[in-house]
Amino acid sequence: MECVHLQNNSREISLNRAQELKNRIEDYLNIKDSIPRGLSEENTKKQIEKKKKILDLLKGSEEDWNDWHWQLQNRISDVDLLSQIIPLEEKEIKAIKQVQKKFRWSISPYYASLIDDENKYCPIKLMSVPTKIEVEKQVGSNDPMAEEFTNPAGSITRRYPDRLIINVTNECAMYCRHCQRRRNIGTLDQHTSREELQESIEYIRNNPEIRDVLITGGDALTLSDHVLDWLLGELHAIPTVDYIRLGTRTLVTMPQRITENLLNILKKYSPIYINTHFNHPMEVTKESKEACDKLANIGVPLGNQAVLLNGVNNNKYVMRLMNQELLKCRVRPYYIFHAKKVIGTTHFKTSIDEGIEIMEYLRGYTSGMAIPTYIVNAPKGKGKTPILPQYIISHGKNYVKIRTWEGEVIDYPNYQSKPIEELLK
Ligand SMILES: *Cc1c(COP(=O)(O)O)cnc(C)c1O
Ligand code: SF4
Repeated sequence: MECVHLQNNSREISLNRAQELKNRIEDYLNIKDSIPRGLSEENTKKQIEKKKKILDLLKGSEEDWNDWHWQLQNRISDVDLLSQIIPLEEKEIKAIKQVQKKFRWSISPYYASLIDDENKYCPIKLMSVPTKIEVEKQVGSNDPMAEEFTNPAGSITRRYPDRLIINVTNECAMYCRHCQRRRNIGTLDQHTSREELQESIEYIRNNPEIRDVLITGGDALTLSDHVLDWLLGELHAIPTVDYIRLGTRTLVTMPQRITENLLNILKKYSPIYINTHFNHPMEVTKESKEACDKLANIGVPLGNQAVLLNGVNNNKYVMRLMNQELLKCRVRPYYIFHAKKVIGTTHFKTSIDEGIEIMEYLRGYTSGMAIPTYIVNAPKGKGKTPILPQYIISHGKNYVKIRTWEGEVIDYPNYQSKPIEELLK
């Protein structure tokens, strides 16, 4: 009898706690549906209408739309054309003309189809359409990561003991207004020469401590299948390389890139990881999800490297929703980068406090899988530095004072371990 009584009581406690937990996300539940999402029925419909309009203007077919070469060749970089696709005020047109003298811009027809005409501050528009502030405020640096001084051979950037980057191109499906590598984008699309790639491969062959190779740019998937097949094959054949990573934003800006032929190439050189760059739930669309699914289905693990951007995603609810949307596509949030002070992009800068607040409202509030690491790139190429809210309040020899996700402070014992051989004697 006592047992039953106890059970009733614990059920009551559990129910109270469940209500308390529900209350913890009440604010989020109230606001969630007002955050624009690319996968919502309403926005999916709008995207299809916009696609039809763009295809009419470019005299393309459905088949063209699904062909990444067509998407690349038809990137929009003409103001008059853009103003037929989205509503632009006279002063916006003037600004674009002014900016394009200094920085190039180019938007894939697919990405342009995601711009919401009714939202003046549409995040998709902010990331793709130039604004006059890019040339007004000439503060910042061109190369805050000092990549120039970490190039031991070919087109390599080496900043860590066991891994490095090969820069393979400066081409992208779209030139993001917030690009932190704007310096590389230049004015012409240029793939790294075969000789330079060969020199990079040779360096990796001669330095067996390199076990992880990142292929990036620009956008690694603007390379042709033919060159990718060769490059991945060469790297895969080096016994000291454990796996290869590809950095691409095409899952977001040109999902048509994920073709059967590409999948067949990637399958040959497993394990390959792909890291992409979603910044807002509006970017997670049906077409984008299909591309992610294709990659996940052949066993390519997907990660996301977002950039914390003022006006786009510097909001705890937007970031939470985006990471949840990504997990639906089997994309695991990996990093949130703090935006550096790069010339022409400084209007996107946020404070570090904003990043910490976002992290504070992820842990506990949503799946651990939806929680990336927030990273500040230390100046002068000194590396990625993780930033976390404080969970250790103080530290003694025999205890650690910790703070839970709900803000409760608890003394936790800090035992010293003894050698296992001694304990099992
Ligand atoms: C970011 C980066 C890497 C990869 O770092 P991870 O933390 O392992 O993802 C490797 N090399 C360079 C130069 C980098 O900037
Ligand atoms: S896809 Fe990446 S490298 Fe290319 S412009 Fe955008 S942020 Fe820069």
